[in-house]
Amino acid sequence: MQFSRKLLLSLMAATGAASAAPAAPAPAAPDTAARQAQVDAIVRAISPQRIQARMEKLVSFGTRHTMSDTVSETRGIGAARRWIKSDLERCGAGKLQVRFDGHLHPVDKRITTPTEIVNVVATLPGTQAQSVDRMYVVSGHYDSRRTDVMDFTGDSPGANDDASGTAAVMELACVMAQYKFDATLVFMTVAAEEQGLYGAGDFAEKAKQKKWNIAGMLNNDIIGSSMNDEGKRDNTQVRLFAEGVPADQAFSDEQKTLVRTGGENDSITRQLARFVKETGERYVPGFKVTIVNRRDRYLRGGDHSPFLDRGYAAVRFTEPAEDFNHQHQDLRKEGNVQIGDLMQFVDVDYVAQVARVNAASLATLALAPATPSKVGVITAKLDNHTELAWAPNTEPDLAGYRIVWRDTTAPLWTGSQYVGNVTTFTMPQSKDNTIFGVQAVDKDGNVSPAAYPLPSRQYGK
Ligand SMILES: [Zn+2]
Repeated sequence: MQFSRKLLLSLMAATGAASAAPAAPAPAAPDTAARQAQVDAIVRAISPQRIQARMEKLVSFGTRHTMSDTVSETRGIGAARRWIKSDLERCGAGKLQVRFDGHLHPVDKRITTPTEIVNVVATLPGTQAQSVDRMYVVSGHYDSRRTDVMDFTGDSPGANDDASGTAAVMELACVMAQYKFDATLVFMTVAAEEQGLYGAGDFAEKAKQKKWNIAGMLNNDIIGSSMNDEGKRDNTQVRLFAEGVPADQAFSDEQKTLVRTGGENDSITRQLARFVKETGERYVPGFKVTIVNRRDRYLRGGDHSPFLDRGYAAVRFTEPAEDFNHQHQDLRKEGNVQIGDLMQFVDVDYVAQVARVNAASLATLALAPATPSKVGVITAKLDNHTELAWAPNTEPDLAGYRIVWRDTTAPLWTGSQYVGNVTTFTMPQSKDNTIFGVQAVDKDGNVSPAAYPLPSRQYGK
């Protein structure tokens, strides 16, 4: 939720924050409700025509199965990845660092012969020294499959799954490369999603080994159709799958405390989801980001999972209602019904809307300061207010901090207050009844995702 400045001021007055004597006014708050010109320009530049052209090109490779031909220049996954790389090098010349990121995968459940699995990674380095190590990854998978996931020769156009996500990521890379951001953006198209998430898994594992600070990962998979399996169109929303606390991970002390204090809806992934919803809906009016509080759909997985498993914040975009006749299916006619994942079932304007939500979110994340660290709620003694403390951010364009809050049963923030460039602040509400978050704000009004305060008996712990 985004408050207007007027409402914010009246809220601050109501809580006493703005009622100080005129001689000592509260610090001027950056305008966090205004849309940033750079983000608006990026969102406007997203082109359905270019997305369509790239999707058609991807489909033209016949099959992009992970074990398909790598020698041909016109058919198979090798030709597809060489084209993706050259297209990104062309559009991001002098700005994007484009590379193949591959590994030789041994024989596995869905890999019959050792196979080179190659991601195409385009990096746009951040321009602020204090933020360049902070990365945001946006991903789609360029491999495709047939009914038989081991059939690597027959046609599998994979238009929706996942030329849609791949083309969206390429469009984001090409548009955003023309702009500068504080933090680093990584535009990634991966292979072997259908064989077991091996491309994304390899990247996430390398990131963990190298201790990369991936502050958020957006997976775009099956974002191509607004039509459900009963022929009903809904082009007004996209689902955003966001896990609470990963179930298959040994709990850290921090995660235990998160759950013990009722913070299971305030994991870093849920904070990212709230951020994407608020930012996406602000910059793409009339288009709803529908958060689904689970890792993924039943019986399905995606490339955000390997990131979640390694402790990163990661979410998945998927269209509102899938038509399973157009996924993972051999091309065929059943009576008069065309089965298969073909371009004719794709709504390119819809793909562009989802790409715009990604664009607004990534741009704002990479312009904003980092989420504050070491955020604590001070529990030194029994009382009925909330004393929050956090470590100072280091960005030179930092303006200060904003505290957000909601009832413990509410999904989204219902209140916010700019508190200036301080590292402690006391709110009148009781910490027992309210969930708080602390965000960092830069001088332009870009706001970071929120951090959940863990209980602390003293400052700086
Ligand atoms: Zn997929």
